[in-house]
Amino acid sequence: MSKKRLVILGGGESGVGTALLGKAKGYEVFVSDKGTIKVKYKKVLIHNEIEWEEQQHTESKILNADVVMKSPGISDKVALVQQLIQKNIPVISEIEFASKYTNATIVGITGSNGKTTTASLMHHLLKQEIEVGLAGNIGDSFAKQVLEKDYKNYVLEISSFQLDGIIDFKPQIAVITNITPDHLDRYDNQFEKYIASKFSIAKNQTKEDYLIYDADDEVITNWLDAHPVQSTLLPFSLVRKIENGAYLEQENIILTIDNNQIIMPKTNLALEGKHNIKNAMAASTVAHLLKIRKQTIRESLENFQGVEHRLENVLKINKVQYINDSKATNVNATYYALESMDAPTVWIVGGVDKGNNYQELYPFVNEKVKAIICLGVDNQKIIEAFGNMVDIIVETQYMTEAIKIAYKLAESGDNVLLSPACASFDLFENYEDRGRQFKEAVRNL
Ligand code: ADP
Repeated sequence: MSKKRLVILGGGESGVGTALLGKAKGYEVFVSDKGTIKVKYKKVLIHNEIEWEEQQHTESKILNADVVMKSPGISDKVALVQQLIQKNIPVISEIEFASKYTNATIVGITGSNGKTTTASLMHHLLKQEIEVGLAGNIGDSFAKQVLEKDYKNYVLEISSFQLDGIIDFKPQIAVITNITPDHLDRYDNQFEKYIASKFSIAKNQTKEDYLIYDADDEVITNWLDAHPVQSTLLPFSLVRKIENGAYLEQENIILTIDNNQIIMPKTNLALEGKHNIKNAMAASTVAHLLKIRKQTIRESLENFQGVEHRLENVLKINKVQYINDSKATNVNATYYALESMDAPTVWIVGGVDKGNNYQELYPFVNEKVKAIICLGVDNQKIIEAFGNMVDIIVETQYMTEAIKIAYKLAESGDNVLLSPACASFDLFENYEDRGRQFKEAVRNL
């Protein structure tokens, strides 16, 4: 019998990982990338005798595939992908392909914000007692870990683009952190399509499986009312009592699953901000489900170090705290950053606008922000939104200058917060580059 042909579009981490797993499982594999494949990945492909191409998609080598794994960065709208779909060739994502080759318990985390933080925190809680891999949008490819490590449990951070490429994929535990409009350009500018994509994480679940979600998020609860799922629901809430799931009672997080309760003092959480209480609720619900001891859960919530570029405390200089929240690439993430500020704040904001509506930030800006530094090429919308609210609003296109201005404006006890609410591509390579430049400039003060 001839080998099945697996074509992989995109030679990045997930593409090359899938290529390795595919080859090991007996597929004839071809990797095609329209851009340039990084040298480290080329070496792996060559070493493993996997055929590849870059700077082009040779249709004759792609349209004869039995199955195609598409990297999440490639849109369904691309003509080649449309041709594949028309030819009824399954176009799937890495998680769909790799999950077929593991019997591990899979926890899948999706949502608009908080995926990386929640996945990392969860991994930290679980790894104290069980064998667990962390993958998806984070770190080493899931497919590669399935091939090389074969953990008994995985925590997967899953974007909507990856969910768009699932057929049978089913996490035993799914988490939806929250849903706010993002990436709508890939969803015909229809929010419903984006919500449906997020909820497809639960589409293959049955009542033996769990769906953990933010019960305070009306987008989620309205959708669930209109589109019930099979899964057993374990919601979490900051504002109302939850019988099965997690909620806040004064200073404590109360988490109950089938009458087995764990109480965690909220003040002991390592991560600050209301959104991180939610993330802690989601992570500890999973840990409780997977039978991690209560004491271990409490201790691990206390000693988690946080994730770079997410409300990361960088330095205190002259009693001014500098905070790097470069990963806040949308308004909702910045909402929680400003919400968690406990002192007058010099706020560095701006970049590529994603159709932002700044209205929900007004109360916090009025209450907490003493000066705004616009760091972007086009700052018009920010100036229009906040110009009347603060005494000082300045513009710059250089991180070093932004930090020098912030240094002059901030007084003892203040915060300097980089939380851009925008994408970074106007002035920086990506949000990591922006965050690193922030930290470097602060350290050079
Ligand atoms: P994602 O992986 O979904 O992009 P991250 O954990 O990287 O999420 O966080 C992205 C941004 O959102 C950061 O600025 C972070 O502080 C903020 N954030 C983290 N958790 C939440 C949450 N539950 N709700 C809203 N914003 C959050």
